[in-house]
Amino acid sequence: MSDLRLDATQLDRYSRHVIMDEIGPEGQSRLLEGRVLVVGAGGLGSPAIQYLAAAGIGRLGIVDDDVVERSNLQRQIVHGDDDVGRPKVESAADYVERLNPDIDVETYETRLTSDTVADLVDGYDVVLDASDNFATRYLLNDHCVLSGTPLSHGAIYRFEGQVTTFTNDRGGDDEDPPCYRCLFPEAPEPGTVPDCATTGVLGVLPGTVGCIQATEVVKYLLGTGELLEGRLLLYDAMDMGFETVEMRSNPACPVCGDEPEIESVDDVAYEGTCSLTAD
Ligand SMILES: [Zn+2]
Repeated sequence: MSDLRLDATQLDRYSRHVIMDEIGPEGQSRLLEGRVLVVGAGGLGSPAIQYLAAAGIGRLGIVDDDVVERSNLQRQIVHGDDDVGRPKVESAADYVERLNPDIDVETYETRLTSDTVADLVDGYDVVLDASDNFATRYLLNDHCVLSGTPLSHGAIYRFEGQVTTFTNDRGGDDEDPPCYRCLFPEAPEPGTVPDCATTGVLGVLPGTVGCIQATEVVKYLLGTGELLEGRLLLYDAMDMGFETVEMRSNPACPVCGDEPEIESVDDVAYEGTCSLTAD
């Protein structure tokens, strides 16, 4: 790869990347060729979309079927007061276009389902899960395991967040990495966990978690550093505590274990549940 891909404007825009040995013009070219699908343009998706666009991720897909509500604006910073009532994907795409004309934004005003997930994820290098419900989280996990697609996971609850990265790179010489179901084999029953609307969330919390997700995606595309693979980062904003817990793959995992029950996303009923975490 050559730095001839970067024109003078790009060399200027990305100069603070280009001057670092770990990135350089080749790394920046890799980012510009990168394709990232962000699922959810809410609390986690907003900062992720902003930083990925600023970093020059060449193709950004944004999936969301909601419209902007005023109560979103306390944390969903890609949207503004004038956007209330507009589809979130439109508002987010406007933001990206204003920020960086290098980015090719694709918007999908739809909800992920087992029928649509393959088409939506196809053509992207990495998926960033910024969704707000267990149905989407498990569907993305299962599809990404089965298709070998890297997946960034982030979740928030009140003052706490968690984030990790699933490369879904299995079958090599190293021990297979874990997936989300290795930790949490089944989604909780609908109605058994409170949702964001009833419990509240500290507005800046998804900013921190979404930024860590964006950092992981950028590192993945650059092929540099140590990802949060096999490690779950737990963040508590109340005591400003960061803790990393080791995760191992689970041989009894229903999707990536030794005898998986889930061989296709059609094998599971991904039902809507209220959200313990994201939004
Ligand atoms: Zn697993």
